[in-house]
Amino acid sequence: MDLIAFATGLVSLALVYGLLAIGLNLQFGFAGVINFGYVAFFAAGAFASAIVTLPAPGTEAYLDASARYQIGLGLPVWSGFLAAGLAGGLLALFIGAVSARLATHYLAVATFAMAEVVRSVLGNETWLTRGEFGISNVPQPLGEVFAPESYALFYLALTAVVVGLIFAALRHLGEAPFGRLLRAIKDDELSARVLGKRTARAKLRALAIGGAVGGVAGALWTHSLGVIHVGQFVPIVTFQVWLAMLMGGTGNHWGAMLGAFVLVAIREGTRFVGEVPGLDQIAASNPSFLPSLRFVLIGLLLIAVVRFFPGGLLPERRRRAPATPGTSPASPAPARPVAPDAPALEVISLRKRFGGLAAVDNANFAIRRGSITGLIGPNGAGKSTMIDLLSGVQRPDSGTIRLAGEEITGLAPEQIADRGLGRTFQTPRLYPSMTVWENLMVAGMPQPNETLRAGFLRSGAHREAEVQAALRADTVLTELEVPHMRDELAGTLSGGQRKLLSLGRLMMRDPPVMLLDEPAAGVNRRLAGDLFDRITKLNRQGTTFLIVEHEMQLVMRYCDHVIVMHQGRVLAEGTPAEVRANADVIEAYLGGAVA
Ligand code: ADP
Ligand code: MG
Repeated sequence: MDLIAFATGLVSLALVYGLLAIGLNLQFGFAGVINFGYVAFFAAGAFASAIVTLPAPGTEAYLDASARYQIGLGLPVWSGFLAAGLAGGLLALFIGAVSARLATHYLAVATFAMAEVVRSVLGNETWLTRGEFGISNVPQPLGEVFAPESYALFYLALTAVVVGLIFAALRHLGEAPFGRLLRAIKDDELSARVLGKRTARAKLRALAIGGAVGGVAGALWTHSLGVIHVGQFVPIVTFQVWLAMLMGGTGNHWGAMLGAFVLVAIREGTRFVGEVPGLDQIAASNPSFLPSLRFVLIGLLLIAVVRFFPGGLLPERRRRAPATPGTSPASPAPARPVAPDAPALEVISLRKRFGGLAAVDNANFAIRRGSITGLIGPNGAGKSTMIDLLSGVQRPDSGTIRLAGEEITGLAPEQIADRGLGRTFQTPRLYPSMTVWENLMVAGMPQPNETLRAGFLRSGAHREAEVQAALRADTVLTELEVPHMRDELAGTLSGGQRKLLSLGRLMMRDPPVMLLDEPAAGVNRRLAGDLFDRITKLNRQGTTFLIVEHEMQLVMRYCDHVIVMHQGRVLAEGTPAEVRANADVIEAYLGGAVA
C-alpha cells in the first residue's frame, strides 16, 4: 500500500471526525445539550451535498456512471457544502424546536430516536438515496485536475482549510459572550434564566450551529469517498464522536480535535491486532472478531480516560480575566419602572400546593417601595416557595402578583427579571465551572452582546459594553471586598463566599427589586454585618429588598418592615418591634421549636 496515500487518508478522516467532535462540543461541551443523534446531521449534510452536486439524470455523466438515482442537481461542489451546512443546521433547528421543552435526559433519547428516523427515511426513500445500494458517482471536487495519486493530498489540504476555518470560527464564538452564556447555561440554566437570560434561544442557536458543522463534515466525507450509502450513518458514528470529545476534552475545541486523532489512531491500531501471532488464527476463522475487539479496546480506553483524565486529555482551562483599567465609580442607573404610587410588590390571594401540602396558602401582602422587608417564619413556612413564586421559578396555582403595579403572575423567570426583579437562592446557584469574574460578567452582560451575531462580529459598541461590564465587575468585587477572588472557580468557594457572589451577580444587574433568600446563612458574623451594611447602602440608592432571614438580631436591626409566614399563610406583619411582641408569632416559633 502507498504509505503516503494511507497516511493522508487517515489524517483527512481524523480531521472530519475532529470537525464532528467540535460541532458536538459546541452543543454539549458548551451548551450542555445531550445529543445522542449527532450522526443525523452528518448524514443530512452528506446526502444534501451529494444530491446537490450529482450530475442530473439523463446527462452524459449520469449515463456514464450507469447511475440509477432520480435527483441530481449538477451544481458545483461549493454549493454542495453550503447545502450540507444548511441541511444540518435546519435539521438541528427542527429537532430543537420540537424537543426544546424536554429535559436533558429525555433530549438524549429524543435525539437518538431522531437519528434512527432520519436513517430509516434515507434508507427507504430509494428514489432519492438508492437506499442500501447507495450512489457511487458522488463528484470529487477538481477530480479531473489532479492525478489520482496526488488527489488524496489535495483533498487533505482542502479538508484542512475547511476544518481550520470552522475551528477558528467556533473558538472565536466560544470565547465571545455568546460562548460564555452557553457555559453558564450548561452549569445552571435556571440560574441564568433568573438573571434574564434567554436560555432556550441560546441553546437552540448552539444546536443549529453544531448541526451545520456536522452537515459540512458530512459533505467533506462524502466527496472524499465519492460513494454514499445509508449504511455509513449508523449510531456507532455518534458514539465515536462522543468518545473523541470526551477523550480529548469537553468544552475545549483543541481537546475535541485531539480526541479525534487519538480515536482514529486507535481504530487503525487495532487493525494490526489481526497480525499478532495467536490472534491471527482467531481473526481468520471469525470475521467479526476484529471489529468486536476494536470496540472492546475503545471502550476500555474510554473507561481509562474517564478514570484518569476526568476532563479529557486537554481539559477546559480556567479562563483568566483580562486586566481592566480600573473600577467604575458610578453604577449605570438602570431605568426603573414608573408607577409612583404602586407598591414594589403586591401579592393577592396567592396559593401554591405541592401534592397535599399547601406551601403557600392564600397569602396577601404588599411591599413598600424603598423598604427593606424581612420575611421570617419557621422552617417549612413557605418562604422560599414564596420567592420562587414571585420570581417565576414556580407558577402559582391561583392568585395575583404585581411588580410595580404591573401584573407578572405566570410570566417566565427571564421575563420577570427583565421587568426589574432579581433574586438569589437559599442554596446559591452559581456557575461552578466558571470563575468569579465570569459569573459576574454573565450577569452584567446586556442581551445584544450575547447574541450569536455579536459572537461572530464584535462591533465597537459591543466592545464598549464589554469594557463597561468588566469595570462594573471589578467595582462589585471591590465593594464586596473580595477582589482577590476574581479568578477563583465559583465551585471552589466557601458557602459564605457563594452567598456574597450571588449578591454580587445581582449588583451587576442592579434591579430595582431584590429578593434575597437567607443571604447571611453560613456567613460569619462580621461578614453578615458587612453584607447587611451593603444592602442598606443599595437600599439608600433606591433598591427595594425582600429578605428571608433567620437571625432575628439582623432582622431587628436592618429591616423596616417584617412579614411572618407560618404554614403557608401570612401570620402577622408590622414593624420589627410589633412583630416581636405578637403573641401568635411567639406561639408559632415556640410551637415550631417544640415540634
Ligand atoms: P421555607 O423556605 O419557609 O423553609 P419552603 O418554601 O422551602 O419553606 O417549603 C415550604 C413547604 O413546601 C415545605 O414543607 C417543603 O417541604 C415544601 N416544598 C417546597 N418545595 C417543594 C417542592 N418542590 N415539592 C414538594 N414540596 C415542596
Ligand atoms: Mg427556605
